[in-house]
Amino acid sequence: MKAEIIAVGTELLLGQVVNTNATFLSEELAALGFEVYYQTVVGDNPARLEELLQLAETRSQLIVLCGGLGPTDDDLTRDVVAKHVKEALITDEEAMAKIEQHINRAGHPMTANNRRQALSIEHGRVIQNPNGLAAGTLYQNDQASFLLLPGPPGELIPMFRQNARPLLAELLPQQELLSSRVMRFFGIGESRLVTELADLIEGQTNPTIAPYAQPNEVTLRLTAKAATEAEAQTMLDHIEHQVMLTVGDYFYGYGDDNSLVAETVKELRAVGLTVTSAESLTAGLFQSTLGSVPGVSEVYKGGFITYSNQAKQDLLGIPAELIAKHGAVSREVAMAMAEEARLAMDSDYSISFTGVAGPDELEGHPAGTVWIGVASKDSGVYAKLFQFNRDRQYIRHSAVMAGLDLLRK
Ligand code: ATP
Ligand code: MG
Repeated sequence: MKAEIIAVGTELLLGQVVNTNATFLSEELAALGFEVYYQTVVGDNPARLEELLQLAETRSQLIVLCGGLGPTDDDLTRDVVAKHVKEALITDEEAMAKIEQHINRAGHPMTANNRRQALSIEHGRVIQNPNGLAAGTLYQNDQASFLLLPGPPGELIPMFRQNARPLLAELLPQQELLSSRVMRFFGIGESRLVTELADLIEGQTNPTIAPYAQPNEVTLRLTAKAATEAEAQTMLDHIEHQVMLTVGDYFYGYGDDNSLVAETVKELRAVGLTVTSAESLTAGLFQSTLGSVPGVSEVYKGGFITYSNQAKQDLLGIPAELIAKHGAVSREVAMAMAEEARLAMDSDYSISFTGVAGPDELEGHPAGTVWIGVASKDSGVYAKLFQFNRDRQYIRHSAVMAGLDLLRK
């Protein structure tokens, strides 16, 4: 079934907001089994949106619109679509009750604009918004199905996953069920992964194997088409086994949202071990990354940011002579930082980062030179040298990811 995505918002046209909703929706729709043929962006302009709707329904059976469901006057999506399909807008009581509750709590008077957010298209199905006030709609007529979602990704994503996806699945022909599995890899680039798996990827139509590169990580989405879920799972198990035979060394976990840091924290929690850190070039990025995972407090108590040599001496007691002799960017200092931090926090593991974020070189080392130290209560201290490339932020991010990877080993 053909689908297209229309993102509504002048801010998108002006380049002020990146159209991440289209990326998210395309991926989700493809995973469900829709063929997404077009993505369009249109400003907050009723005439141009109407023009686009007329075109879209000649070529797509599903039209997903995002943005313009808010309370302000420039939020016109539901009005334009309702007019286009010749239906009235009606108030959804559940959405209205939520808005009233919100307004009462905030102590503001209710305005007509607030009420607009509870409107949905008559004869459509209301899509409730778990993270916001604007209700969405799935409306079907003989021409096409229209799905209306709000613009903020924090609202659109949970709304799509929880409430819209099951309804869309019902639109698809029944006999062809799609099931996906996402495998995540670290330590191998996308091009090498694809090269290693070339035979498998090329010869493969069902399941399909789709690689996707993210900064420092690659994911593979395996998608099987089958009559039943059990059959799809068996097909996915089989292809996963073949993938693992080739690139299993780099595999670390499953799932769309399961980042390397979440997986690392999960593994540490499972075995009840704690970690701390001493950071120079990453300046807290490693600890901040750990802090992004809910429940990290069980494994992480705190740590050190020792950017300057003086801070390395003052906060961790690294001898000035050691730094003078080997340089701050050295195996010796990385190991000392890791061990001193571990002792100070009395943790099972500690990890240290000292290197050159760039763009300029330091102590004669080029940008991207990074020593990562690992200290463990049971098996001593070591440090490993990395040479990262690209820009400063990428080098710091790469160091954090490599540190997480070392921690899991
Ligand atoms: P609101 O109630 O916030 O007004 P809305 O449904 O009217 O919601 P918009 O006004 O179109 O949505 O957009 C609100 C915000 O959501 C934008 O400022 C932007 O930050 C974000 N946003 C909108 N569209 C997109 C998009 N396609 N991709 C990513 N972010 C978006
Ligand atoms: Mg808006």
